[in-house]
Amino acid sequence: MYCKIWGVRGSLPVPGARTVKYGGNTTCIEITGYNDECIVLDAGTGIFSLGRHLVHTGIKKIHVFITHTHWDHIQGFTMFQPLFSDDVEIDIYGPKDPNSGLTIEDLLTSQMDRHFFPVQLQNVAARLNFKDVTGGDRIKINSLIVRTFEFNHTAINIGYRIDSENRSIVFTGDHEWKLNPHPSDDPRFSSMEESIKASRRETINFMKGADLLIIDSAYTEEEYLTRHGWGHGTLDSSISAAREACAKQVLFTHHDPSRTDDELEKIFKEAIERNTINGKDLEFALAKEGMEIKL
Ligand SMILES: [Zn+2]
Ligand SMILES: [Zn+2]
Repeated sequence: MYCKIWGVRGSLPVPGARTVKYGGNTTCIEITGYNDECIVLDAGTGIFSLGRHLVHTGIKKIHVFITHTHWDHIQGFTMFQPLFSDDVEIDIYGPKDPNSGLTIEDLLTSQMDRHFFPVQLQNVAARLNFKDVTGGDRIKINSLIVRTFEFNHTAINIGYRIDSENRSIVFTGDHEWKLNPHPSDDPRFSSMEESIKASRRETINFMKGADLLIIDSAYTEEEYLTRHGWGHGTLDSSISAAREACAKQVLFTHHDPSRTDDELEKIFKEAIERNTINGKDLEFALAKEGMEIKL
């Protein structure tokens, strides 16, 4: 498999000199299978350049998987150029909100309502097939198997695991490890601890043995102290999870929009130093726009 990173930021695109090295676009990842299957994970602003590239290749079939519909994961979708090609078919997968009942089709259609965008989704030239996903699904795309898992976030967020014959890529989307809201002398504390442990086991199991793990690592430990419940992980929580899951290569992503290139490198270096263990370790890196990984 081949993986290319097109967007790495959380929350908001931040182009400019301070972010030029790691990139200012929001989340978008391209995965290509051995038989040229084209999978796109999330439609943040990075999907704009990816779309132009794909049209140039003459692509006919694309599979877009949306983790959730927070802006930073869909805000480039309206300008995804293959939408405007009449010889392209796009399968679009995403979760249905369990509370409102809104599907991925409903939400992406709303995003292109005439109040927000000049062309409406029902009028684009490409053939679109919408598919709702939920945790535990298994979707076969030629030689690839895509599995789904619900990662803990402030909205329903489906992470994806793409397995080819002998390689695997896991993308969490946005994810915060569950916390116990009860004080330790509360009678509900211990049953909540058990449920959190079980949830962690399942989450680690989904990531197990990934050749490439792309994981939400938005915050430093210090920042996280005042951001509990905002739905994101830290570099340290990602390092320990990746080790527990025995992942091989790990990309930290969902960089905070306020972070400059220099600051990113500084917090990365500090987190790696703080968590150093002896012996053979995994390969950790900051996700960077334009980065290509062959597996
Ligand atoms: Zn996000
Ligand atoms: Zn989110």
